[in-house]
Amino acid sequence: MDGVPAERCGYAWPRDCDRVAVATGRPIHQSCCFRPTLADADRCLWHADRTPKAATALAEACPSPAMRAQHRTVAHLLDGAILRDCQLGTAVPLANTALIGADLTRADLTGATLTNADLGGALLGEATLRGADLHNAGLSRADCRGADLRNTDLTDSLLWQTNLAGADLSGADLTDAFLWGADLTDAFLWGADLTDADLTDAVLVDANIEDADLTGTTLTQATLWASQ
Ligand SMILES: [Zn+2]
Repeated sequence: MDGVPAERCGYAWPRDCDRVAVATGRPIHQSCCFRPTLADADRCLWHADRTPKAATALAEACPSPAMRAQHRTVAHLLDGAILRDCQLGTAVPLANTALIGADLTRADLTGATLTNADLGGALLGEATLRGADLHNAGLSRADCRGADLRNTDLTDSLLWQTNLAGADLSGADLTDAFLWGADLTDAFLWGADLTDADLTDAVLVDANIEDADLTGTTLTQATLWASQ
């Protein structure tokens, strides 16, 4: 970015993110990354296009708990971060984090706390989020195809037009989730809690909703038929 010293990342959001159109339910914030570049790259640890990255290094690059506590809404700006194939687990604090358009393809986020995280338009295909806490997270237009979302907490999450085709949501808690236009083709929702969830215009072709709790679920104009 113009005016940024060579030893600084300079990744400009959203200008430098070519993976997605900006999709978020939150106010759009523009930002320019001023983190130091890696020794052998022109981007910082988060934005350098190399993977996998060590969870310990990523955790060390996060704000301290005291710093995070000072920011009520967004504790860390990581829009456009490249974390593909990273084994993050619970090591890297990502609650209240802006991760719009981040590449988390095949990332392991088992048991991670992602409450209030903004993952609009993020790539989460085949990611593992088993048992993760995504309460009030924003995942609008995120690509979650084939993701492992077993027993995740998705209460109050925003899943507008989220691609969940082939995702495993068995045992997930989707109470009060907003799933307008979400693609749940071939999704596995066995035992999921969809109490008061809004699935208007959602596609549930060949989805398995056996034993799912549909109390108060809105299914207006949802596509529910099986292909066979
Ligand atoms: Zn950066």
